Amino acid sequence: MMTNDVYGRTFKKLRVSLTHECNYGCLYCADGLSKKNSGNQSFVSVNYIQNQTIIPVAELLQLIANLHNELALETIRLTGGEPMLHPELLSIVTGIKKLNVRKIAMTTNGHMLYSKVEKLRDAGLSSVNISLDALDEETFEKMSRNPGLDNVLRSIDAAIACGLEVKLNTVILKGVNNHQILPLLDFAMSKNILIRFLELMPMGPLHHSYKELFFSEEQMQNTISERYEILAMPKENHATAHYWKIQGQQAFGIIANDSTPFCKDCDRLRLDSYGNIYGCLSSLKAIELKAHTKSYMLAEALAEALTHKQVHSFTGNARTMQSIGG
Ligand code: SAM
Repeated sequence: MMTNDVYGRTFKKLRVSLTHECNYGCLYCADGLSKKNSGNQSFVSVNYIQNQTIIPVAELLQLIANLHNELALETIRLTGGEPMLHPELLSIVTGIKKLNVRKIAMTTNGHMLYSKVEKLRDAGLSSVNISLDALDEETFEKMSRNPGLDNVLRSIDAAIACGLEVKLNTVILKGVNNHQILPLLDFAMSKNILIRFLELMPMGPLHHSYKELFFSEEQMQNTISERYEILAMPKENHATAHYWKIQGQQAFGIIANDSTPFCKDCDRLRLDSYGNIYGCLSSLKAIELKAHTKSYMLAEALAEALTHKQVHSFTGNARTMQSIGG
């Protein structure tokens, strides 16, 4: 049985990166290595793990089952890279559903979601976070380096229509898409869904230069206050976002690693597509698991991963969110 660290933290949420590949090359995320894959644009992050290969689905499901046995996980979130690119995504959701985890969620760029969203819901998916950084085509393409706005909007509607919990994630870069904050907020409110604006985190391609593009939580609040009266809500335990109410409207959130760090009660564990776990998003230390790893060894691996959590805030490195699973 997993114990807590000296700050009372443990692992209750698992983020599983299904692939390091993405069909978007977001300015703040992709480290620029791109290849053409079966005619489609594809961005593949730097592989930090030498001599490891992506694990087969049966093994991945066994690892997840082992972790759930040990941790009694509350949420499993599928991410990447772009999780929709995994050819066996439906089998993965079906397999996780059999483990009786309370919530199966996915973070996606929404480019392909609409075509499979009902099947994914039927397989057990209950919630999606869809990344949307702009509502105008030009800014969207500048941010994602792929023209796909119509697809993403279609996926948002399809996910809402089939009853999934839907949230939007928007990374704000100063001078690039901060003018999209109010249009995006109005869009989210018109759909009655939550939007969370993210402060840029110092990782991946912007690790050294992120201050130049950084747009703070305070600047986001000021932008929104120009149009709306906003009221801060109490922060929930283990949450990354703070939320604000707007009279008579849907709330909105801000995920602010710099301004309001969220490490102190972090309960997230990450599993990458090679079968390594990480106790922290800023950790470069991969702990390799095998499907047949004995329970006591798994407990030791988890105890080690717990020591990799940051005390205060994420420090960042050149590793991309795409490669570890955002
Ligand atoms: N491809 C999927 C997507 O686009 O949502 C899932 C993976 S993506 C790495 C997950 C989340 O990480 C996205 O919401 C993205 O905006 C966020 N992200 C990536 N790099 C970031 C950075 N440097 N700072 C803040 N958020 C970042």
